[in-house]
Amino acid sequence: MALSLHGGLLHTQLWGYKNIRDEVLRVSMTRRIASLVSAFVAGHGTCIGDFDYLTCVPSERRVAPASIVSLVPPLADRYRQVLGASPGAACSSSSDGRTRGARTVDPGRFTVEDSVRGARILLFDDTFTSGASAFAAAAALRQAGAAEVRALVIGRHVRPDRPDSRALVERLVGRSWTLLGCARCAA
Ligand SMILES: [Zn+2]
Repeated sequence: MALSLHGGLLHTQLWGYKNIRDEVLRVSMTRRIASLVSAFVAGHGTCIGDFDYLTCVPSERRVAPASIVSLVPPLADRYRQVLGASPGAACSSSSDGRTRGARTVDPGRFTVEDSVRGARILLFDDTFTSGASAFAAAAALRQAGAAEVRALVIGRHVRPDRPDSRALVERLVGRSWTLLGCARCAA
């Protein structure tokens, strides 16, 4: 949905909604992110495409994005958590841009329910850092027989100080995020 610049507003919210201890603040951050997702889904439903149900990328301890999904009716209606984290498997990328686990795509990090066979699945996550989690989750779903896997991620984490991100950030200078176009319909 958007680039999430390290230390920026979106990055702060995406970190806070699952890590802030104060419950009132945490719920308020979750609601703000959910309204952003609601607006995006309303405007770019055709870009997201058809799917039978949505599942979240889980970390080892929890399924944090589910709290966002529960506040977005068009997504909540089709939410089924068919992915689990394999015990002892590497966990998902952390919001500070480092990965605690491996960056390699390892479908064995996830367990998948048998019921996915033949289904078109929308994979949902809050943050995309190296992509290792999303690609491993997609690979696990395909191996389990899913007919199609698409991904919807709220923030693509970017650290402007990293050489591999600099070109991307420079290209965006003077442009602000808008609901009028997404990565799919406005390149
Ligand atoms: Zn779009």
